[in-house]
Amino acid sequence: MSNDVLVFVEQQDGQIKKASFEALAAGRETAGNLSGAVSAAIVGAGIRNLATQAAQHGATKVFVAESDVLAAHSGDGCARAIAACAEQSGAGTVLFAHTAMGKDLAPRVAQLLDGACTTDATQLSVVDGVLQASKPVFAGKAIKQLRPNAAHYCVTLRPNAFAASEAPAAGEVVNVAAPDGDLLAIVKEISAASVNHVPLQEASVVVSAGRGLKGPEHWTLLEQLVEAFGPGVAAMGASRAVVDAGWRPHSEQVGQTGKVVAPMLYIAVGISGAIQHLAGMVTSKFIVAINKDPQAPIFKVANYGIVGDAFEVLPALTEAIRTTRQ
Ligand SMILES: Cc1cc2nc3c(=O)[nH]c(=O)nc-3n(C[C@H](O)[C@H](O)[C@H](O)COP(=O)(O)OP(=O)(O)OC[C@H]3O[C@@H](n4cnc5c(N)ncnc54)[C@H](O)[C@@H]3O)c2cc1C
Repeated sequence: MSNDVLVFVEQQDGQIKKASFEALAAGRETAGNLSGAVSAAIVGAGIRNLATQAAQHGATKVFVAESDVLAAHSGDGCARAIAACAEQSGAGTVLFAHTAMGKDLAPRVAQLLDGACTTDATQLSVVDGVLQASKPVFAGKAIKQLRPNAAHYCVTLRPNAFAASEAPAAGEVVNVAAPDGDLLAIVKEISAASVNHVPLQEASVVVSAGRGLKGPEHWTLLEQLVEAFGPGVAAMGASRAVVDAGWRPHSEQVGQTGKVVAPMLYIAVGISGAIQHLAGMVTSKFIVAINKDPQAPIFKVANYGIVGDAFEVLPALTEAIRTTRQ
């Protein structure tokens, strides 16, 4: 297996995702540990100008596969383009961010390269000269360590589990032939959800609430707390109980059957801390729990616990954060 690493750089509306910068940093470190080189793959339409940013984050080469048919996301089209980048770069490892797009593409690319695939890794290391990916399993109770038994290894990396950093490199642009038609599926329209906050899995701060908030009409308290952190910082999450009750959309659900998040700060409000919820947030750097029951299981994983009524604590916390930021 080649020691070189290729990182798929995901973009939306011409903006590279933060999680892809994290993947580039992880790719750089992994390539360093394997004594290989790290390069980037960018696919889509009109995306050539993003190569400079990939180089700024350490890509020695940037493989660019441009085609008008890739203007909207195409699972099979992008996968074929990335596989072509991997073959042209000679990389053994291909890294993706564990986003909706990364989850769609990594298994497809692995299949095209006849390689192995691991999703949602939270750590990469090199053991006996072989890349090893680690990921939480059994609702976060155990860590599974995987090494590929193939010439190619596709791995998706959990957002916020790796720190992004700049390390300017040459970033030589290499053109790669992209599919120009013949796609299995074509996206004709995208109706984006009307959310103003940062994507849940990329937010540095996630403020989640559960049944303790009593009803959907009280979510304004949570929105005010999210806004107190300032623009582009925090996102709202929810427990499954409130999603099942129809109080919040499923896109906000955190947990085993929802999204897995690993922000710098996770604030759980009126959430009991069921194992299925913990599976989605236990790898957060700092966990703050607000619950009126001192025996609530959420306190077992919390770094800071506030035993109290959410309806009193939330306004005070929001005010304190506003004041601190001023
Ligand atoms: C297969 C399976 C998959 C699941 N997947 C998920 C998942 O992905 N995500 C998930 O979240 N759950 C999941 N669940 C459900 C999970 O088991 C729990 O039922 C759910 O997480 C409970 O949600 P909750 O904490 O909001 O509600 P509750 O368990 O009812 O807890 C409410 C909490 O609010 C506190 N409270 C009440 N009033 C106040 C107040 N005024 N101020 C402060 N605190 C207050 C209470 O003390 C209590 O601790 C799954 C379950 C199964 C079986």
